[in-house]
Amino acid sequence: MTAHSHSHAQAHSCTIKTVAVAELAAAADRAVQINPLNAPSIQMVRALGMPAEMPVQARLSVLTKKYWGSKGVKLTVGFMDSPPADLRARILSHMNAWGAWSNVRFVETKTNPQVRIARTAGDGYWSYLGTDVLLIPANAPTMNLDGFTMNTPDSEFYRVVRHETGHTLGFPHEHMRKEIIDRIDKQKAIAHFMQTQGWSEQEVIQQVLTPLAQSALIATAQADPTSIMCYWLPASIMKDGQAVSGGNDINALDAQFSGLIYPGPVAPSCIWPNGKAYFFKGKQYLRYDPKADKTDAGYPKPMAGNWPGFPTTFSNKVDAFVLWGGGKAYFFKGKQYLRYDVVADHVDPGYPRPIAGNWPGMWPEKIDAAICWPGNGKAYFFKGDQYLRYDIAGDKTDAGYPRPIAGNWPGFPADFAAGVQAAAVWNNGKAYFFKGSQYLRYDIAADKVDAGYPKPIAGNWPGFWPGGLDA
Ligand SMILES: [Zn+2]
Repeated sequence: MTAHSHSHAQAHSCTIKTVAVAELAAAADRAVQINPLNAPSIQMVRALGMPAEMPVQARLSVLTKKYWGSKGVKLTVGFMDSPPADLRARILSHMNAWGAWSNVRFVETKTNPQVRIARTAGDGYWSYLGTDVLLIPANAPTMNLDGFTMNTPDSEFYRVVRHETGHTLGFPHEHMRKEIIDRIDKQKAIAHFMQTQGWSEQEVIQQVLTPLAQSALIATAQADPTSIMCYWLPASIMKDGQAVSGGNDINALDAQFSGLIYPGPVAPSCIWPNGKAYFFKGKQYLRYDPKADKTDAGYPKPMAGNWPGFPTTFSNKVDAFVLWGGGKAYFFKGKQYLRYDVVADHVDPGYPRPIAGNWPGMWPEKIDAAICWPGNGKAYFFKGDQYLRYDIAGDKTDAGYPRPIAGNWPGFPADFAAGVQAAAVWNNGKAYFFKGSQYLRYDIAADKVDAGYPKPIAGNWPGFWPGGLDA
């Protein structure tokens, strides 16, 4: 058994809290109020892979019951106790990790928070599901993060906070999928969870052995044992003796799925669902690990052969690339661009295409840099000493652009205002701009370059090309 699995065994299993039966009708009404015109389309139901034997109306009503609606999720968050500011910020940052892929945003407040987090010892990890959160009395928590402190390992913030936040977004347990439940030895599972979690037989049946169709709502087309919403099931309770690995972070399918059901403006970063960032220079690319703050071993590598579907013109050099919402990335080269499917790990069919005619208001060729901006639903594109602001939902350049960089990006020195070569934004509230052998860090909330920049790439970006990059 790996150390990773061992930590699961010691940890509390997560439970989904359900509202009382008498409140279910109210829950449905509430969801319809929130989501009056957003009853999921048949296409969405198909895309979500609801069980075929379930009548369409039932599938719709189940979905509608806890789904926040296609306009996205904006919720305020508060704490039942008084965690220190650094812990509150850390929890919020992991909740908002979903917002890199979907129209989801959590904002801390002290006044009437909608999501209320407790850290009650012995109460385990749990959350209410989707719009049920709004039915809970204002003096009661909607999520419990048993014993979380700043000393809790970082991996647990990824595994637990992101998972419980998934429930708040309406995502059920992935291990409740019938194809996984069918593999569980029911008697062994009951004994196991009664012993390790202190659950009653009824609770084990409800939490682990009831297939999704009867207990929950929204899911991807196939069961995904590495989904953040799937937890570890030990080999000892599986009929086939094969443990279910469970997820440790939002994976590519989770990311894509969240963007499908909550589309629209995202709080993007340049960090891919595998936790890595990619940079490009000439025929090469490198993979950067933001957590370790260094280039992964074995990089740079040639683009050719490692980016399936890239035509030679692109694998020889790209001008710019931007990680978009919904599991897509766009690469620009000369007069063309291509769309890359992050989950399928392949260029989408029908690409490259001409920039002209497909990006209203965009320069038709030779883009220098592109970046999706957190918080405003916009992307910025740079060419020479100009930049333009692109509205992601409206799919067009905003009126009044392009504009000069100079004067509009506070703190940009003259050589950066004359043009940038690459840009990246991480989920720490900072954006990075690269020009020649230097880079600068931009504070998104303060809307200006941080003090002390630009700095040399060499020595600050381990494994980078010291002379600069293309994208
Ligand atoms: Zn859970």
